[in-house]
Amino acid sequence: MDPIAYVNGSFVPLAEAKVSILDRGFLFADGIYEVSAVLDGKLVDNASHLARLERSVGEISLALPETLSRIVEIQRELIARNQLVSGLVYIEVTRGADVGRDFAFPKGVKPTLVMFTSVKDIINAPSASTGIGVITVPDIRWARRDIKSVALLAQVLAKQAAAEAGAGEAWMIEDGKVTEGGSSSAFILTQDDVLITRQNSSAILPGCTRKAVVALAEERQLRVEERPFTVEEALAAKEAFITSASSFVQAVVAIDGKSVANGRPGPMAARLREIYIEFARATAQ
Ligand code: PLP
Repeated sequence: MDPIAYVNGSFVPLAEAKVSILDRGFLFADGIYEVSAVLDGKLVDNASHLARLERSVGEISLALPETLSRIVEIQRELIARNQLVSGLVYIEVTRGADVGRDFAFPKGVKPTLVMFTSVKDIINAPSASTGIGVITVPDIRWARRDIKSVALLAQVLAKQAAAEAGAGEAWMIEDGKVTEGGSSSAFILTQDDVLITRQNSSAILPGCTRKAVVALAEERQLRVEERPFTVEEALAAKEAFITSASSFVQAVVAIDGKSVANGRPGPMAARLREIYIEFARATAQ
């Protein structure tokens, strides 16, 4: 079956889905994106992703060309048309295609909205049982990482370096502390069983999975401290893990080739993964 995408009001075969070369997403990375997971054909924690989409577009004074309820309808229609059981729905909105390449916002140009799905078996990903290694790289991104901008070159380079090193993610470092992963939030579990993850600020993207995992952990009386941590702390920790819509909760077993604890996924990451999957299944819509 040919995958179906959505482009500015139409459902079209993915191979035929096109936007203008004057699209400001292409020329200036003047756009915002979101990614929601799909489990059992339903959207996981989607309200949280759409709230972040609304906030991100607001931060760059970009008006969504469709209402959030219409966007949900399009997401659902894409899931149905692509017969998607497990995977991701991608949304991108840009400031549209102007007639030239002026930096300032164009007047009277309709934003571009594109959406497509991809198949991914998040639950049975082999790395869920083996854990992943991460490498560390300097965080060279801009100062508004709380905005889910399509300007992802720093993350592209970070994740390429990780891939070349045989690692599954790159942890970005600023002022001696981990900010976050290239496309995930970073957590550690200290020797005295405190979960540590950096507090939300303009230094990181406010992860939807991070938010849900923190809430689920606190509901279970687990101790959570939101603060930055160093790589040394992570290497001395009981466990380390990442969270994201595309991996849920994923153990980190090595950092720059050095083992975290015994180099195997720990029980807390496994437990939080199970708890998150249970939450995702129970609340998916
Ligand atoms: N941090 C960054 C930089 C990301 O790109 C992502 C996801 O793409 C995340 C964190 C995780 O966010 P979420 O849990 O909402 O997928």
